[in-house]
Amino acid sequence: MRAESGNVSELFVSFQGEGVHAGRRQLFVRLGGCPLRCRYCDEPESLVPVPECRILGPDGIRRRPNPFTPAELGAEVGALTAMAPPLHAIAVTGGEPLAQTDFLVAWLGCRPGALPVLLETAGILPARLARLLPRVAIVSFDVKCPSNTGERARWDEHEACFRAASAAGREVYVKMPVDEGTVPEEVERGAKLVAAAAPGAPLFLTPLTEPTTPRLAIGAGTLEHLHALASRFHPDVRVLPQLHKVLGIP
Ligand code: SF4
Repeated sequence: MRAESGNVSELFVSFQGEGVHAGRRQLFVRLGGCPLRCRYCDEPESLVPVPECRILGPDGIRRRPNPFTPAELGAEVGALTAMAPPLHAIAVTGGEPLAQTDFLVAWLGCRPGALPVLLETAGILPARLARLLPRVAIVSFDVKCPSNTGERARWDEHEACFRAASAAGREVYVKMPVDEGTVPEEVERGAKLVAAAAPGAPLFLTPLTEPTTPRLAIGAGTLEHLHALASRFHPDVRVLPQLHKVLGIP
């Protein structure tokens, strides 16, 4: 793949399912490839670059081979934008979008149009985030608790990312996926970290779901307990299930 080309797994319009802008209609650009392997990952088909991009438009599903140049992605996004108003934002998601920072910088640098860009990232690649921040308006971060990801802790990377986005004046919110196995001390540490490094950013406890079903993998009592713990360290903790799973939409 050429340095300026990128791997895109899906383009589609749907309702945002998480965070501050849940329920708003957005155009999703899902990039292929992620350096993490979270145990609960609900996008397994986007963990590695894919040979074809699936494009869900008003006329149905179309497939297009990868890779994309920035101009080719711009043309597809422009066509979908024109076909599917009204839209609140372009949500750049993954996989981990920052795994393809060069491509995103090139695409967003030549993008016409006024729609704001919402970047959905795990918040583990601070140097790459810094390069992309001038091109995005909203940043949705995760706190990756090792007890439910099965990955190593990323506290330092999270902190550097939260501080960079806040210092740049971007709208920031943070999601913390939780299930019955989430260790309470990690929830406390994450809440403390968000309050210190991203002042004003709400923290969403996102109940994880069972694989392939919308059934929650955490009970109401545990959610209540984790919310109370997090609220000891953060002033604005909210609980929000993933709306797209409830609605059965992409
Ligand atoms: S960061 Fe997201 S896409 Fe990557 S493994 Fe974790 S849940 Fe899946």
